[in-house]
Amino acid sequence: MSRLPDDFVENMIELLGDAEAEALFASFRSPRTHGLRINPLKICMSAKDDSCLRALERMFDLQPVPWCPSGYYYDERTAPGKHPYHQAGLYYIQEPSAMLAAELLDPQPGDLVLDLAAAPGGKSTHIAGKLRGEGLLVANDVHPDRAKALSENIERFGVANAVVTNADPWVLAERFPAFFDKLMLDAPCSGEGMFRKDPEAAALWSAEKVRQCAALQADLLDAAAIMLKPGGTLAYSTCTFNREENERTVESFVARHPEFAVVRTERIWPHRQRGEGHFVALLSKRDESAPAANGARGERRRTGAGKSGAPEKRAREAERMANDFVERMLPGYSPGPGSPLLFGEQLYWLPAPAVKPFRDGALDGVRLLRPGLHIGAVKNGRFEPAHALALAAPVGGTSENEISFPADSPEIAAYLRGETIVHSAARGWCRIAVDGYPLGWGKANGHLIKNHYPRGLRRRM
Ligand code: SAM
Repeated sequence: MSRLPDDFVENMIELLGDAEAEALFASFRSPRTHGLRINPLKICMSAKDDSCLRALERMFDLQPVPWCPSGYYYDERTAPGKHPYHQAGLYYIQEPSAMLAAELLDPQPGDLVLDLAAAPGGKSTHIAGKLRGEGLLVANDVHPDRAKALSENIERFGVANAVVTNADPWVLAERFPAFFDKLMLDAPCSGEGMFRKDPEAAALWSAEKVRQCAALQADLLDAAAIMLKPGGTLAYSTCTFNREENERTVESFVARHPEFAVVRTERIWPHRQRGEGHFVALLSKRDESAPAANGARGERRRTGAGKSGAPEKRAREAERMANDFVERMLPGYSPGPGSPLLFGEQLYWLPAPAVKPFRDGALDGVRLLRPGLHIGAVKNGRFEPAHALALAAPVGGTSENEISFPADSPEIAAYLRGETIVHSAARGWCRIAVDGYPLGWGKANGHLIKNHYPRGLRRRM
C-alpha cells in the first residue's frame, strides 16, 4: 500500500501507543478480509432446515463472523459475487466489520427504521432481513446514482416493506419528526478503516478531510435526532479510527442533545479482529423528552389525501390486473399489509406504516425511487410484472410457469446475459429461477422464452 500520511501515523500513536500502533500499521500489509451476509428473507437459517446454508458453506468455504449470526468470511477464490445466487439475492457481499452496526441496532419485526445514509445498501439489507417483512424501512441516500444502486440492492434482496428516498436529511427531518423507532446513521467519513481494503483511501486522507467529515457528521446527527421517537435507538457508525469523527462527534452530539445517552461504543481494529476498521456508537433517546420536532424544521406539511395522481378508476383497474396476475402466477403471495399506489403506469405496494405519512404529504417533494414494492406496470391495457415482484415473492410456486435451471446450466448463463432461452414447456409469463431461487421474468411462446431480465443488470459476454 502507499505511504501512510504523517498526521495519521501521529494520531494512531497517540491513540494506541507506539507498540500497538506498529501492529496496526503492520496489519495494513496483510490481506484484507472478505465477507457475505446470508439473506434470511430467502434462506432458512434454522437448524431444522439449513440445507441451503450448508451448501453455501461448502461452495464458498464460509466461516462464521463472530459478531453477526448471518455473516460469514468467504474464500475470495470462490467469487460468490459472480455466482447466479448473488443475482437471486441469497446473500449480500459485505465487509465483515460493517456487519456490526445493524447487529447492535437490533431492529425487530414491526419497527419503523430509517437508514439515513444508506447506499449501496449493506446496512439496509441487513436491517430488512431482521424486520422479516414487518414494519417499515426507509432507506435514504443524498446522492442520486448511489440511491439508484441502493434501490437495486433492496430489490435483489426481495424486500417488500422498504421505501427508498433520495433526499437531503434535513428535508426528511421536516417530514418525519419523532417518527422512527430505530435509526442508522452510517456516516460519510475519512475512511481510515479502509486503508487496507482500498489503498487509494490513504492517498485521499488529510487532517482537513477529518475536520470536514466531523462537521458533516455533526450536521447529519442533528437531523437524525429530530426523526427518532422518544425511547428510540440510534446507531452511529463510521469506518474510521480517529477520535474526532468517533468519540468526540458522539460526545458533542450528546452535549447538544441531552435527551440522548450513549448506551455503548464498539470498535473493530484490523490488528485485533478479523475485519477492517469500524466504529459503532449506540445511543438511546429518553422517553420523557419532548420530541425535538417543534419549530420551522420540525413541522410536517399536510397537503391532504391520496397522491397517486391517477384517477381512482385507473388505479382500481391496475390493482385488479395485478391481483389476477399474482393469483395465477404467485398463488398465496402477499407483500404484507399496505396499499396499492399508482404512479403513472407504475403500480407499487406502499407498506402499511408509510400509508398515513404518504397521505399526509410527508413524502411531497422528497424524491422517491421506490415507494414500496414495485408490482408492475399497466401498459395499453396489459399488466407487465416488475422485476422486484419476481424477487420478493418466495419460492414454492407449483405452476409450469415457474421454471428452474441449475446454477451451472447454459440456460442460466444465457438468461443473465439477456438472451432468449429455448424451452417448450410454458406459455405466457414465467418466472425463471436458479435451483428454485427466482431471478426474474420471461415470456414464453411454447418454443422460446423471451428475456425480461432488466437490461441494466445483464451480464456482459
Ligand atoms: N450504509 C451504507 C452501506 O452499508 O452500504 C454505506 C454508507 S457510506 C459509509 C456513506 C453514505 O453517505 C454514502 O452513500 C454517501 O452518498 C452518503 N452521504 C454523503 N453525504 C451525505 C449527506 N449530506 N446526507 C446523506 N447522505 C450522505
